Amino acid sequence: MEDKERWHVNCEWIMANMACAPGLGHLTLFNTKKFEKCRELGKRDLIRDYLPHARKNGIHLLPYLNLHWFSYDFAAKHPGWEQLMEDGTPYGRKHPLYGNGTTFCINSPWRDWAFELIKEVMVTGVDGCFLDGPVVFPESCYCEHCRKLFGRVTKQKKMPSFGDWSDPLWKQFVEFRAQSTADFLRDAQAAVHAVNPRGIMFLNGGGYSSYGMRAARDAARAEPYQNFTSSEQFYHASETWDSPYKTLNMARFLSAGKNPSVVFTHHTLSTWHYIPLPPAEMTTAIAQTVAGGANPWFAIFMESMPSRSEEAFEAVNLNTFLEQNETYFTATESAAATAVLLSRRTAYYYLSQQHALVKKADSGKEQDLIMERAQQAVRAGLEEQRKASATILDNEYMGCLDALTFSHVPARVLWDEHIALKQLKGIRTLILPNTACLSREQIRVVTQFVKQGGNLIATFESGFYDEWGVPAKRPEWLKLLGIERVESAFEPSRNEEYWTVVDDALPAFPKNILLPRPLNGLKVRAIRGRQELVRFNNTLGQFYTNLKGLSPYPAVLCSSFGRGRVIYVAAPLFESFNIFHMADFRVLAHGLIKLAAGKAGLQIECQAPGSLAIELRRRPGELQVHLVNVTSDMKRPMEKIIRLANIWITVRAANVKRVHCLRAGTELSYQRVVDKIAFTVPEIMDYEVVIVECRNLL
Ligand SMILES: [Zn+2]
Repeated sequence: MEDKERWHVNCEWIMANMACAPGLGHLTLFNTKKFEKCRELGKRDLIRDYLPHARKNGIHLLPYLNLHWFSYDFAAKHPGWEQLMEDGTPYGRKHPLYGNGTTFCINSPWRDWAFELIKEVMVTGVDGCFLDGPVVFPESCYCEHCRKLFGRVTKQKKMPSFGDWSDPLWKQFVEFRAQSTADFLRDAQAAVHAVNPRGIMFLNGGGYSSYGMRAARDAARAEPYQNFTSSEQFYHASETWDSPYKTLNMARFLSAGKNPSVVFTHHTLSTWHYIPLPPAEMTTAIAQTVAGGANPWFAIFMESMPSRSEEAFEAVNLNTFLEQNETYFTATESAAATAVLLSRRTAYYYLSQQHALVKKADSGKEQDLIMERAQQAVRAGLEEQRKASATILDNEYMGCLDALTFSHVPARVLWDEHIALKQLKGIRTLILPNTACLSREQIRVVTQFVKQGGNLIATFESGFYDEWGVPAKRPEWLKLLGIERVESAFEPSRNEEYWTVVDDALPAFPKNILLPRPLNGLKVRAIRGRQELVRFNNTLGQFYTNLKGLSPYPAVLCSSFGRGRVIYVAAPLFESFNIFHMADFRVLAHGLIKLAAGKAGLQIECQAPGSLAIELRRRPGELQVHLVNVTSDMKRPMEKIIRLANIWITVRAANVKRVHCLRAGTELSYQRVVDKIAFTVPEIMDYEVVIVECRNLL
C-alpha cells in the first residue's frame, strides 16, 4: 500500500535470489525444490507472500534475478561454468566482482541452470522477471564451451586474442559474443513463455558508448527477445565535470527502438547505498527519463528509510504528477525534427586510419610556471589506435546530444537499423556525429534523404568506413560532403590552435572571427566551388606566439545537393564540446543546424539558459513540450533547482486550439507566427510539460 500510495509505483521488483557479497546468486528467496533457499528466511517465501498484496494494490510484480554474481564456493561446485580469459584464468578471480565473487559463461551448461531458475520464478505466478546480467565481461570468454561453439560457427580452429585488431578473426569474435548474448535472451524468453506465454522479461542492457562492444551489449540485437529495452544511468560522484543531461541522453537512446524503454536510476547517493539521492538529482533523473520517452525506475535501499524517509519521499514527489497524468505519458513518440544517428556499428568497429590521432596532446595546464607535458607512447599499435578512436567517438556522441540540449534543439536518436527512408520521414536535419562506419545501403539512403530535401550535418570521418570498419573508397560520398581528398589528420592539441570563420553565412559569427580549434581535425581539400564557412589556421605548436595565418585546409564546408543541404565539419566538433564545454563549439554547432534548416528556420526557439532542456513528443492530436530545468547551484550532486520565470518559446505547430501547462494546471495564451506559435511559460521549477492541443486534420 505504501509502494502504491507514497512511491506511486505500478511495477515492482523484489529480489528472487540474493545479489550481495560474496556473490550469493545461488540462494533463492522463494520456495523451490530445485534450488537452495536462503536459510534466514525459514519457511517464508518472499515472492508468494508478497504477490497477493502487490496485486491488490494494482502493482505488477517482476522479480529481480541476479545472473552475474556468484560466489567462489558455488563456482567450485560447478567446474566449467566460469567465464575464462584467454590464459584460462577465470575472469572473476582476476577481477573479483564487487570485490568478491565470480561470474559464469552464457555458453556453458550454467545457461540451463539459469533458465530453470527463471521458470521457477515464473511458476510463483508473477508477471515476469528482470535479468540483472548475464554480462559477457571484457577479455572473456575462452572457456571450452565458447571455444567449441566459436569453432562450429566460424569453422576456425583457434580463437583470436582479446582486442587483437590485427587478427581477422577478432571481428568474428566480437559478433560471436554479441550473438551469444542475444541467443541467451532468446532462450531465456522461451523459458518465461514456457510457464506464462504472456510473461514479461528484460535484461539490464547497455548504452550507446563503445563499451557496448567490450561487454557484448547490443540494444538492437536484443530487441526481439525482450519486452523492454533498458539500461542503468546511475548517478556517480565524480572528480570531473559531469553532464547534467546523462539521463535524458540515455532515455533518448533507449526509446529509439520498438520496445517500451526503461532508465534505471539508483535512488542512492552514488555508492553510499544507504543514503538517498538528493531530491534535486532524483527528480531530474525521473523528469529527464520521461522527457526522453522512457519509463522511470528507481531502487530503494530500505536501510535509508528510518532516518531519511522525508528526503526520499520528497525526491519522488514528481511521481504523483506522472501517475495522475499517465495517459499523457503513455505511447508518446518523439516529435523532434532533428535526428542523431548513434551508430552501433561505429561504436563496435571504428578504428581510424589516421595515425596522428593516437598522439597524446599536452594538457595545456600551466601551474607554478611549469607546463604539463603529455607522455607519448613509444610505439602505438592498433590497440592504441582503437582506443583513440573509441575515445573520440564516446565524446562525440555524448557531446552531440549535450550540445543540442544546451542549444534547445530537441533531438531524436536513431540506431543503424533506422536509416531507411520511411523512418526518416519527418526528419528535417540528420546529424552524423563522426558516424564513421556506414554500410553502402546506409550511404544510399542518406544520399537519397538529402536529394529529397533533407539536410545533413556530418563530422570528421562520417561514412569513411564500411559497417565492418574497413576503409571504404566512396568518391560519390566525399563529393556529397564537398571533399576532393583527405590528406591526413592534425596532431591533437589542447592548446591554443585556431580556426577562422571565412564566410558571412554563419548566424552567430561574423567573418574573420577567430575560434578555438577542436582537439582533433582532418586535413582535407575541398572540391572547387564549394562554400567554405570555416578554415583551419596554420598550426602554432607554441603558446604566446604570433598567429601564422590561414592554412589551406577547409574546416566547415556547405553544399547543396538535390533539394537538400549538406554541411561537413572536418573535425569531431562535439568531442571538444564534451571535453572543454566552450560556448564557441556549441554556438557553432547551433549555427550550423540553423543554417542547415534554411528558410524554414529552427523547429523551436527559446530564450532560456542552456540549463533548460526542451524535448518535443507527441500523441495523436497533441504536441508536448517537455521542459526540464537543471538550473542549480553549479555542481553535482545538485542541491537546489533554481526556478526559471517567464520563458518565451516559439515552436512549429499547426492547427492549434489550446495551449496549457500540465503541471501548473494553467492555460497559456499564444500567438501565431507564420507556421509557429509563441507563448510564455510563467514558471518552471524542476519540470513542466506544455501541452499544445491541435485539431487533427485526418
Ligand atoms: Zn565461455
